[in-house]
Amino acid sequence: MTQVLSVTSECAPLVKTGGLADVAGALPGALAAVGVTMRTLMPGYPAVLNALADARQVMDLGPMMGGDCAIVAGQAAGLDLLVLQAPHLFERDGSIYLGPDGRDWPDNPERFSALCQAAARIAEKGVEGWRPDIVHGHDWQAGLTGEYLRGRSDARFILTIHNIAFHGIAEAAKLARLGLDPARFHSDGFEFYGNISALKAGLMSADALTTVSPTYARELMTPEFGMGLDGVMRARRGVLSGILNGIDTDAWDPAAESHAVPYKNPKAKTKATAALREELELGEAEGPLCVVVSRLTGQKGLDLLLETLPHLLARGGQLALLGSGDAHLEGAFRHAAEVNPGVSVTIGYDEALSHRMIAGGEAILVPSRFEPCGLTQLYGLRYGTVPLVALTGGLADTVIDANPAALARGVATGIQFHPITADALQTAIDRLCDLHSDAESWTKLQRNGMAHPVGWDTSAAAYAALYDRTLGRT
Ligand code: ADP
Repeated sequence: MTQVLSVTSECAPLVKTGGLADVAGALPGALAAVGVTMRTLMPGYPAVLNALADARQVMDLGPMMGGDCAIVAGQAAGLDLLVLQAPHLFERDGSIYLGPDGRDWPDNPERFSALCQAAARIAEKGVEGWRPDIVHGHDWQAGLTGEYLRGRSDARFILTIHNIAFHGIAEAAKLARLGLDPARFHSDGFEFYGNISALKAGLMSADALTTVSPTYARELMTPEFGMGLDGVMRARRGVLSGILNGIDTDAWDPAAESHAVPYKNPKAKTKATAALREELELGEAEGPLCVVVSRLTGQKGLDLLLETLPHLLARGGQLALLGSGDAHLEGAFRHAAEVNPGVSVTIGYDEALSHRMIAGGEAILVPSRFEPCGLTQLYGLRYGTVPLVALTGGLADTVIDANPAALARGVATGIQFHPITADALQTAIDRLCDLHSDAESWTKLQRNGMAHPVGWDTSAAAYAALYDRTLGRT
């Protein structure tokens, strides 16, 4: 049995800011089915420590970054957790990455360096007789792990890039404090324009790199999407692969919904749509009820949606949005809801409402400028909520555009648009409204989406095969 230590800064359902948490939470269960034992190392945020059952200290790490640290093992939400207990780093108010002022915690480099050092110690010494063959880290927060493993453990290191936009930059003056080897502070190591980049450290030191869709893997090697690391990605192309995320098909099952009206087919879905309209005080409409569940940031392209919103409304459509993020986007959407009866905007993070929106929505809009994989379009497919997406990253890999050929062959599942501009989005909205008014075509799109596999089976097998290859077994 392959033993893997997953190293993550967030993990659903315990602590989540985005899709990374969903993936970290789902992987262990999915991999168990293909013969891989995965334990998850994550920071000891209060929400994690409070959820731990059968908690026991399994390793004393001594002082790190100004306070005593230990590894506590336990179970929570069906996960086999190893938790880095470090109150001075992780037990604080505010979000897991941002302080009350909305800016990164100034000691984020120290906080996640400690996580990576803990991973290396577990790989070196093992806990309770368990030692990983592979350390599988996620994003920059796990990026330094490869540096700390060097010379200490034979465990292989794999890094998954969920979003290359976040680099985990620290000033060079922190080299000693982070326990990094100054000899590796150069352009083939973790140096990035005079600073330390935790992500680059991982990209350079990993035995294998993955990202969360095949298209994003290709995009990462281009200046447009590489965020300054495209050269590094091109240099590392030989170890890079794209493995699509799945979704938790038990938590996201329209037939077994506990948050929304459950349904098994497009006809029965209309009850969920009616319930959502009532809840959000949206009247009846000719056009589609479009939903968005998203972080409100530039990445997500929602400024393009604001530009095309009058057109959607003119076509008889409606918009229901749930999200939070940039103040100017929050304000602009709030204003749109105030002046348009066909628009409902909920600012905040609300898991239960997100289920009702995806169940009740007729279409889900994901106009992202870049999207490593994206999860909400997968929920949309499973729920017969037709995805309208930008042609990028995982959105390109998971939706089959309703072009004439795909419609004729009966395989389309949604709508894609490119280039990622307001004009192209407007044309896509027209196509959406046209299809929506043709009941037969619309139902066919919904049924195709609902039948599209969005679970973890294929991807779990791909990760297991990657682990085998990385361990030289195949
Ligand atoms: P990203 O990781 O870039 O935020 P993804 O689509 O990969 O984007 O994952 C986002 C996840 O967060 C999805 O599970 C989505 O349903 C959830 N989500 C985003 N915003 C909200 C919100 N305001 N309320 C509830 N869930 C949200």
